[in-house]
Amino acid sequence: MQVRIAVSFPYDAPVSQSLFDRASAVTPGGVNSPVRAFRAVGGTPRFMVSGTGPYLTDADGREYVDLVCSWGPMILGHAHPEVIAAVQEAVARGTSFGTPGAGEVELAEEIVARIEPVEQVRLVSSGTEATMSAIRLARGFTGRPKVIKFAGCYHGHVDALLAAAGSGVATLGLPDTPGVTGAQAGDTIVLPYNDLEAVRAAFAAHPGEIACVITEAAPGNMGVVPPLPGFNQGLKDLCTADGALYISDEVMTGFRVSKAGWYGIDGVRPDLMTFGKVMGGGFPAAAFGGRADVMAHLAPAGPVYQAGTLSGNPIATAAGVAQLRLLDDAAYEKVDAVSAEVRGLVTAALAKEGVAHRVQAAGNMFTVFFTDAEVTDYEAAKAQESFRFTAFFHSMLEQGVYLPPSAFESWFVSTAHDTAAVERIAAALPAAARAAAGATA
Ligand code: PLP
Repeated sequence: MQVRIAVSFPYDAPVSQSLFDRASAVTPGGVNSPVRAFRAVGGTPRFMVSGTGPYLTDADGREYVDLVCSWGPMILGHAHPEVIAAVQEAVARGTSFGTPGAGEVELAEEIVARIEPVEQVRLVSSGTEATMSAIRLARGFTGRPKVIKFAGCYHGHVDALLAAAGSGVATLGLPDTPGVTGAQAGDTIVLPYNDLEAVRAAFAAHPGEIACVITEAAPGNMGVVPPLPGFNQGLKDLCTADGALYISDEVMTGFRVSKAGWYGIDGVRPDLMTFGKVMGGGFPAAAFGGRADVMAHLAPAGPVYQAGTLSGNPIATAAGVAQLRLLDDAAYEKVDAVSAEVRGLVTAALAKEGVAHRVQAAGNMFTVFFTDAEVTDYEAAKAQESFRFTAFFHSMLEQGVYLPPSAFESWFVSTAHDTAAVERIAAALPAAARAAAGATA
């Protein structure tokens, strides 16, 4: 679905364009993950060739301040010297052994030490695998079939969880995805986010049938829509009362919004949690973990099967351990401060041009919604004037600031976003705000 765009593209990117043409011949849509395409905003996706600190450089040699950070993982900025050194050291020792390795133990210990409800953890290679496996485990543990998820929450492209999903599914406006059968999604109950009454009613309608509730700890995939006070605790209490498991998906928030992720902010104790992104230091590493009595049901300790040829890969674990060890309190203070500064600058620029907007944050993750109404669920997120985002996005891009190419995504900053990077963002904002003000649907 190509969206009609009301802005022109005065700047070109010939090398990216030629790479995109080649990519489109051999890869559907020219990208290996839909959110990387510019379908929602139009134009040519930029093909990046290198990253340093807060900057990305594209194939045409143009430099951008990066406010995507690989969709969250690059919390120390690009090519952090200590992470690169750990990777180089690991890679020189070999790339995969298919046996247990010390790096897996170190990464698991780092996770367990930081996040108190995680007594045991299993490493996998993507957030999708983590949520898929956590749900299988919840069903195996409880012997129940049904899963509650929330509209606008994205948990990876797990068949059963692609109903009313956020992220690329929201960006592309897909209702649900072909290829998922009724049987695969039939046990998924989709409810409006932040609506505890709806959850209560679902438990009442399906007594003893619900294996788990899975929720993003603080959603970032319909744009950032934090849980209302008491929502996560209410979910946990309803699960406990019914004998279902509460699964907190921290793939995006984990190790990003605090040392202990969103759990470190709201303190609601999940039965199972899922992680990815930051914990891999830019490599494919993810995990799920939680209560030891639940994790004991996982093969080879228990009967619920789960496996992976490259799980706990030595390069990925070396990068993850190096990155997590650098993420001390000072690092989070820095990321939080940069986030607050950029949020303030965006608000000031848009307010000056009289553009209706609302900046919503969950810790240091944030989204600029083009509406003045509070966004508490997916319906409200979809009601924003996203055509204004399109104009804003292209103006920022033209001026060397790379935003997520969608109005339904979180923006991310890093410890590497220094004064010079923030000044570049500040310099670009007035023209972008004017472009947003002048945009038409
Ligand atoms: N869960 C959440 C909350 C996510 O944000 C994502 C990806 O953005 C996933 C799961 C899936 O992770 P991956 O893309 O590594 O499969």
